[in-house]
Amino acid sequence: MRTSHYDVVIIGGGLAGLSAAARLAFNGKKVAVVERGKLGGRAMTIKLKGFQFNFGAHAIYARDTSYLSKMEKEMDLDVTWEDYRQLQSRYDMGDETTVIPSNFGGLLQTKLLKGSDKFRFAYHMLFTTLGFEKGDPNLSIDEWIELNRISPAVREMMLNLANSNFFAGDAGQIPSNVFFDYYRRLFKTNIPVSFIQGGWQVLINEFKRVIRENDGQIFDKTKITDLLTDGERVQAANAKRHRFTADEFIFAIPPEQLQKLFADTRLSQELTPYTDYEPAYVMFYDIGLKKRIETDYTYVFDKDRQMFITDISYYDLEAAPPGGQLLQAVAYLRRDQVNDPEAHEAIIKKFEAFYDRHFPGWRDQLIIPRASKKPVLQAIRWTMNQQGLPIHFEKMPNVYFAGDWTNGQGQLSELSFSSAYDSTERILHHTPAIPQPL
Ligand SMILES: Cc1cc2nc3c(=O)[nH]c(=O)nc-3n(C[C@H](O)[C@H](O)[C@H](O)COP(=O)(O)OP(=O)(O)OC[C@H]3O[C@@H](n4cnc5c(N)ncnc54)[C@H](O)[C@@H]3O)c2cc1C
Repeated sequence: MRTSHYDVVIIGGGLAGLSAAARLAFNGKKVAVVERGKLGGRAMTIKLKGFQFNFGAHAIYARDTSYLSKMEKEMDLDVTWEDYRQLQSRYDMGDETTVIPSNFGGLLQTKLLKGSDKFRFAYHMLFTTLGFEKGDPNLSIDEWIELNRISPAVREMMLNLANSNFFAGDAGQIPSNVFFDYYRRLFKTNIPVSFIQGGWQVLINEFKRVIRENDGQIFDKTKITDLLTDGERVQAANAKRHRFTADEFIFAIPPEQLQKLFADTRLSQELTPYTDYEPAYVMFYDIGLKKRIETDYTYVFDKDRQMFITDISYYDLEAAPPGGQLLQAVAYLRRDQVNDPEAHEAIIKKFEAFYDRHFPGWRDQLIIPRASKKPVLQAIRWTMNQQGLPIHFEKMPNVYFAGDWTNGQGQLSELSFSSAYDSTERILHHTPAIPQPL
């Protein structure tokens, strides 16, 4: 077996692993990133008939305050952004659509709240933005709402926002501190959502470039099957024909893989409560159209159907051939729908009816449909019973964790980027980037 030594070995080449490897290499560490399949993990861009499909989508929330932006500036990544037009995002109210109030501008325009409820919601927005409203880790958002006697209209508004941002049908179960942390960032930003021109692949290529320009090595199609430890420290990660030894390791692989690799180590028990997660599952139905169907909105959310459509090619000009359009519909799956083929069929029908309603004529323009059943949107679904994996345990000091199952910041890929930033910060400066709760 071939053996190679590095300062840091990063296991897993999704967004978390690649960004961590790039940041360490950029800062002078000798790194290797080891990925069992294709680089990018769940963030992939696939080209079909001139359309670029991103599974999952590449909407980045509050990019100005994000860890991805921090890394973009630090490493001078070559990424072009297109920012969301706030007033073009709508709720489907049945007989009409109205603006989603994700900041004060949207609040003035929306018809979802009226009169005094607008003031009440503005008051909560202000309190959250200023950091006075923090929630409580022991209270779900439903419980917080009840305790604080929130009016029914404001309650509905809060839960609708949470449904669409946390991709959750049961947003009331989100811990209230996670909810308010999230909205503090969102209400403060001027750019709630942005898209990367060219999709995830552009970002993946940029991370690869930085790793290679700084003498880092990338091993794809290389699965880590077991670990060698001396009890306290990991000494090596073994693939079939290659042993990777290092001073420090970042594991950017999902919980069920962690459980297998760490089964015989002193972290086995520590990891158990975090490896039994319930993920957030979604279904999506993308359609590539020959000719654009114009509407005066680019995102529409239907709270009764629990689904939304984004006009991806409006923001990512490379997503469709000239004159064409790429639309993406996403639905959240309830727990009872996850393994139920009949429920999946019913959701596909609902997707089609939702397209009929907002993009009439799409069937005549259809070049390529692409539907997917129950991919893991985020490896951890935020409920009162689930907590993110810590980034580090004192018990095994040379091991760090990153990925969207960890105790990072934000939601979706921001959890991956923030945990990658935090673990690299600890390796580079021996201090966490994000203070952990006491
Ligand atoms: C339908 C859908 C829509 C989405 N929409 C958005 C969105 O709009 N905005 C957003 O920010 N995020 C979105 N996401 C979420 C985003 O894609 C994920 O948060 C992100 O890609 C997770 O990256 P990660 O590196 O943390 O994990 P992963 O991508 O899961 O990476 C883990 C990697 O580890 C590798 N691995 C596992 N075991 C081993 C082993 N033993 N040895 C070596 N390698 C191993 C895997 O092959 C994988 O590549 C969406 C996801 C989906 C599915």
